[in-house]
Amino acid sequence: MKIAIIGGGSAGLAAAIAAARKGAKVTILERNDKVGKKILVTGNGKCNLTNTLLSSEYYYSKDKGFIDRAFSRFGLSDTLSFFNGLGLLLTEKRGGIYPHSEQASAVLDALRFEVLSLGVDIKEGCFVKDIEACKGGYNVYFDRSLEDTFKSDKCFFDRVILTTGGKAAPKTGSDGSGLKIAQKMGEKISDLYPALGGVKCEGDFWKSISGVRCYAAFKIIGDTTGEGQSVGELQLTDYGISGIPVFCISRLIAEKIHKCGKAEIEVDLFADADDETLLREISSRLLVLNDRSYEQILCGFLNKKLSIFILKKCNIRPSDAFSDDPEIIKRIVKTIKHLRVFANGVNGFEQAQTTAGGILLSEVSDDFESLRNKGLFYAGEILDVDGICGGYNLQWAWSSGHIAGEAAAKC
Ligand SMILES: Cc1cc2nc3c(=O)[nH]c(=O)nc-3n(C[C@H](O)[C@H](O)[C@H](O)COP(=O)(O)OP(=O)(O)OC[C@H]3O[C@@H](n4cnc5c(N)ncnc54)[C@H](O)[C@@H]3O)c2cc1C
Repeated sequence: MKIAIIGGGSAGLAAAIAAARKGAKVTILERNDKVGKKILVTGNGKCNLTNTLLSSEYYYSKDKGFIDRAFSRFGLSDTLSFFNGLGLLLTEKRGGIYPHSEQASAVLDALRFEVLSLGVDIKEGCFVKDIEACKGGYNVYFDRSLEDTFKSDKCFFDRVILTTGGKAAPKTGSDGSGLKIAQKMGEKISDLYPALGGVKCEGDFWKSISGVRCYAAFKIIGDTTGEGQSVGELQLTDYGISGIPVFCISRLIAEKIHKCGKAEIEVDLFADADDETLLREISSRLLVLNDRSYEQILCGFLNKKLSIFILKKCNIRPSDAFSDDPEIIKRIVKTIKHLRVFANGVNGFEQAQTTAGGILLSEVSDDFESLRNKGLFYAGEILDVDGICGGYNLQWAWSSGHIAGEAAAKC
């Protein structure tokens, strides 16, 4: 059984290992000069490869049951055993699983060594342009490999697994060319949005608070999915908001902007206390420090740049003496805890970590085989599944890649 795996990213490498272990003759066709380029940049170079809290609730998809079924076949414990079996020592940090060396390159090395020891043929510098169904399999058309080891620009395979990723981080090789091939093969593809990226907001004040980080909670106003909330370390930038909690809801914000032109977001800049507690804390300062300015009273509550920004938002001069007017204190607390901003854009695919949308799950079987093209499989980010931050997208790549690889080798 000759299997072509188009795209040597995380899903492709997982599929290659699974198929080769089942005895298939596997060839990976990768456009870059090396496989796994994206793996090297994951988790800030540390590679958060899965999460101890694994469930479909951490994914966006029209069919969460499909994801649950996939995880029941290859889930968290299978992923941990798989990497342990490759000799990779793992460690856990707040639920995220990383290589103990905290080097993403260790994950790629472990996968590459296994692929090579299984005798998988890796064709690097090989851009696949098209595939075409033919008797008993598929012809795969490609631009000649740099090594020129293929004699022609066409090769026959019994089965094909398309693991070319989505459109996020195109510098790593995933520019959507695989989705065009899938579309040509008749698969239905949903709208695509950049996900897990920063959010651009209206206002000319962002530069003044750029660089500030703080613990914050977010709520998309008018969200009907029940998923438009998150909490964690906010990063303020010169264009708006960023950081993991923003990444987690950025695809919902993108959808809302797509439909309504903008999205209103409530930011709680003091998320570890409720309104009353914050009000009490600020008021108690006034009892002993009644000769201080607004800026001085807020010292230590928020980053200084943020305090000044909040006071200006309340039309208060930071250097003015603090008034004990309870209405003014309430106004300050309301602005800190219920800051409303309007998002009018999300960072593009260049800065996004993943793609929202892709080939609809209704197009594939539970084995990840196309329902309309027998012998053609899909795995990874190319499918209409995207997870929140925390190892969920790589877990989807390992799970779907494994199941597709085994199934392709068997059928
Ligand atoms: C900066 C960054 C940080 C991230 N951090 C994390 C993290 O810590 N944890 C996590 O779970 N997820 C993380 N992700 C997301 C995760 O890396 C991806 O969802 C996952 O790698 C997708 O795997 P894939 O194999 O489907 O696609 P990809 O990894 O994109 O692989 C696709 C491969 O196909 C190749 N290819 C594309 N088109 C063709 C073609 N026409 N011919 C031949 N080859 C082709 C590409 O060169 C590429 O090698 C991060 C993403 C980014 C960008």
